[in-house]
This record gives sequence, structure tokens and C-alpha cells, in this order.
Amino acid sequence: MTVKETAQKNPQSLTGRAYAFAERAHAGQMRKSGDPYFTHLLATAETLERWRMDEATIAAGLLHDVVEDTAVTAEELKKAFGDEIAFLVDGVTKLSRIKYRGAEGKVENLRKMIMAISQDLRVLFIKLADRLHNMKTLSPLPPPKQKRIALETSEVYAAIAYRLGMWELSGELQDLAFPYLYPTEYKWLEAHVSDEYETRRKYLEAIKPQLEIILKNAKLKPVGSDFRAKRYYSLYQKLKRNDMDVSRIYDLIALRLIFSTVPECYAALGVIHQHWIPLPGRIKDYIAMPKANNYQSLHTTVIGPDGKYLEIQLRTREMHEESEFGLAAHWLYKERGSGTYGAAWRKKIATNLTWLKQLRGWRERKPEEKDKNPKEFLESMKIDFFKDWIFVITPKGDVLDLPESATPIDFAYHIHTEVGDGAIGARVNGKIVPLNHKLASGDMVEILIQKGKKPSEDWLKFVKTSMARDHIRVGLRDKRTIAGGRRAPSRIEIRLAAQNRIGLIKDVSHVISRSHIQIISFHSTDQKGSHFSVYRIECATTDKNKIEKIILKLKKIKEVREIGYRII
Ligand code: MN
Repeated sequence: MTVKETAQKNPQSLTGRAYAFAERAHAGQMRKSGDPYFTHLLATAETLERWRMDEATIAAGLLHDVVEDTAVTAEELKKAFGDEIAFLVDGVTKLSRIKYRGAEGKVENLRKMIMAISQDLRVLFIKLADRLHNMKTLSPLPPPKQKRIALETSEVYAAIAYRLGMWELSGELQDLAFPYLYPTEYKWLEAHVSDEYETRRKYLEAIKPQLEIILKNAKLKPVGSDFRAKRYYSLYQKLKRNDMDVSRIYDLIALRLIFSTVPECYAALGVIHQHWIPLPGRIKDYIAMPKANNYQSLHTTVIGPDGKYLEIQLRTREMHEESEFGLAAHWLYKERGSGTYGAAWRKKIATNLTWLKQLRGWRERKPEEKDKNPKEFLESMKIDFFKDWIFVITPKGDVLDLPESATPIDFAYHIHTEVGDGAIGARVNGKIVPLNHKLASGDMVEILIQKGKKPSEDWLKFVKTSMARDHIRVGLRDKRTIAGGRRAPSRIEIRLAAQNRIGLIKDVSHVISRSHIQIISFHSTDQKGSHFSVYRIECATTDKNKIEKIILKLKKIKEVREIGYRII
């Protein structure tokens, strides 16, 4: 039954109430496409229903945008639907504040943060269902926004879906993002491949009845079958490895057969090979030897009628559901009580979830224990693996990671020294908070500043990061200097980044000592995997004129790329 049918048939059910509530709250709102906003919520909920999520998740899917996009407050939602739904919606709301714009090296951090904020995997499932619909309806948005969302989908959400074992969804998200990220390549594929797709599909459709007869004669009957067209995204990756030659891609479209049992899959493979000669090196037994991500199926390419290549994939229904629902497939066993925590479940946990396990530091327990207390076991599935670390978001949607109990001041200094020094107040999730407020994962933090202000000594009592502490001390010293009206004795630190060369350090120190300035310390940091080093040189002077002259001279050294100094 669809979500809509459930809601109409049983308006007093949780689904029914959420349906009516969301429809009312979003009344009059439109999507960019001109559709009523509610269509988005219904589509999200229907996807969750298709993934066979529990009713609370489906209801939260219907309600996931009410707090963010309507007048309904989090409190009102909690009053109407209780803690669980409010918690799930709150998680999705937090996730929607994160924006990824392709910062190099940040993406893994961002994925982790999303996992951390989600806390409960169901939050992630809702977000993925939400994103799937948004990707399907991306075309009316302005191009820069399309591109940003497509990039985020490809780099972050498709990757998360993949790691949750939802390979079908991951592929679908990649495919939806592809035309926006690679328009030229997409057009090339449209022009060169779409006819080939059609030709091969027709061929498979013509072959299918023949194949069914062959199997029937061997008393084999598939419980399901479909055609799986290779996704443009992965096709493009494959073409790049094959000189863009479409004729070398055998699995453009595959015929997929689903059987009840594993022996039937092998029997069917044997029967097929008796009739059509398999292509050497193209028989893949991913049942006996699953792929690294635990994907299971038998693949073969045979030379079919008319001498044409034909890829066939065979798998059980369980394998099929695994690839479509991934972790969600196991979630549903809990809620719908249809399954036991059997061998497949343990195997899934043991292999497919290595990543999640690593993140959570999940301790391996004896299988009997898992069976005995599934509830407790599922509790441990809740995402709480970042015990000492939090992730917060800037108003622009960038992500900062900070130690636990970090404050808005720590946040401010991580943005910029001026933001830290000038901080006079902070807003967390839109509410004004004291500067010693403890931040939590998912908080959106905004700092109110006054230009030219100096830090306050009190801050030292509560800041958590050494970065903030160091900056506050420097700021306080400057403040005293100004207040005293005389120059306090201090030092200057020169920082420079330079390409490595033998003798470089000597040249640098030579420039400094020639100006009769004493070097107190000299640190260098090698940047991993780069030919650059960063040097910090502490000098016993406060004479800015002299330092400026030194800086000019150092800049003339060919290898020096970046240079600056500060009073310490
Ligand atoms: Mn949404």
C-alpha cells in the first residue's frame, strides 16, 4: 500500500495524521517546478515506504520540512507527534544546513559529520530519500545551485549511500548528478550511446522468451527478472578506460534473473552455458567470492543468437534486496519483525559495515549475544562514534570540527583571528547564547562582532582549543601595550612557505642575521607529500621597519612562495 493510500484509508494512523499535518502546514507553498510543495514530501515518504522503513520514519519523511520551511515550530511538532518524530525531523533539519562546495580534502570530514549529526541511521535514510527526490526535480533551479547540489550529491550522499550498502541508490544518485556535473560528456553519451542502448534492449527483449523456455525445460523458473541498463555515470568511467569505444562495453544492458535459492542460480548458469558459449574471462562468481563491498551475483557474458554478446546476471531475492536496500534491508527486519538476526545479518555487519564499524569503534561481540539481545544490539547501531569531537556549521554551510564542549569563542577563532578578537555575542541555531555556551554537533553558529575590539581575559577560563587560547593571549598583550602607551618588549615571528632546497635555511638565516637581528628559534614543518616546507622563525625584535626590510629581502629568494609575520 502506498503512503497516500494508507493515509486516506486510515486518517487516524500516524501516517494519516502526518500526511494531513504536512499538507496543511505546506498549503499554498510551491516547488520551483510549480508543483505544490507537498508533492516533495509525499515522494520522500513513498521512497521510505519502498525501502520498507518503519512508520515513524515514514511519518518523519512527510514532516521533514515543516520546521525548516513553515511556521510550525519544533515544540509544536513535538507536542503533536512526540519525541521520536521530533528527533528524526530535527536531525534532517540539521543536515539540511550543511552545504558542500567542493573544498579539497574536506569531503571525508563532511561525510563523517553527516553521520555524526544523524545519530540515528533513520535520519540518514530520510535525508537520502529527500535528496533523491530533489535530484529528480533539479532542472528548474538556477544553474549554479544545480551544480552545487549535484556535486554534494555525488561526493557526499552517493558515497554515504554506497557505504550503507545501498548500491542501487548510490548509482541512481550518481546518474542523476552526472548531466549537471559533466554536461559535455553527458551530451556525448546521449549522441553516441543512446541508440546502442535501444538496439541492445530490443535484442534482450527478443531473447528473453527463448531463455525462459530453455530454463523451463531444465525445471528452473526465475521469481523475477529485469533489464539493468548500465548507468551513464559508470558507463562513462568505463569508456574512459576503453578508448571511448562503446562496442567494447558488453554490459551496456544486462538481463537480470532472480531465483529463490543459490543452487538454482548455479544450475541456471550451467544451463545457459550449455546453450550459448560464454566469453572467456567474463564469468564472474560473486556468490562464492563477493566483491569487496559484499555484492553478490553471478555474471556471465555469452554469445547469443546472431553472434551478439549478451550479459546475464543471476542472483537470489535476498541478494537483490541487499543491493537495493543495503543496511535499510536489515533495519526493516527489526521493525517489521519479519526476520531473525541470522547468518546474513551477521555477515552484513561483519563485512559490509566495516566503515561504519571503524567510525563507531563498535566492539565485536559474540554472535549469540547479538541474537539474545537484538534491541541492545540495535541501540549500538545508533551513531555515537564521535564522542570527543563535534561538528558545527557556519552560516554559509561550511563545516568546522571542534573538540567536545567547544564554545562560540573557539569557533570564532577557527574562522579568523579578527572574528575571535571582535566577538561580542553569538547566535546558535538562531538564538542568542552566552559566549561560553557549549556547542553541539549540528549547531549552526553565527558570531556577532565589533571591529577593532580586543579579546576579554575571562575567555581564557572557558575556551577549549589551544588555537583560541594562543590568540586571546596575543590579543591581550596587544591590548596592554596600547593601554600602557609604551612598547612592551616582544618578539616577532616570521612565517614563510618555501619550496625545499639544500642550503635554503642557510640563505634565510643569513638575510636575518645580516640585519643584526637575533634568531631565537627556527622551526620547520614538512608538508606531507609536497615539496614545500613551512618555516617559523622567531626573532628578538619589535622593530617593524627592520622586519619589513627583511621580509622584502626574503621575498627575493626564488623558492619562497608565501611570507608574513606577526608580533608574539
Ligand atoms: Mn526536503
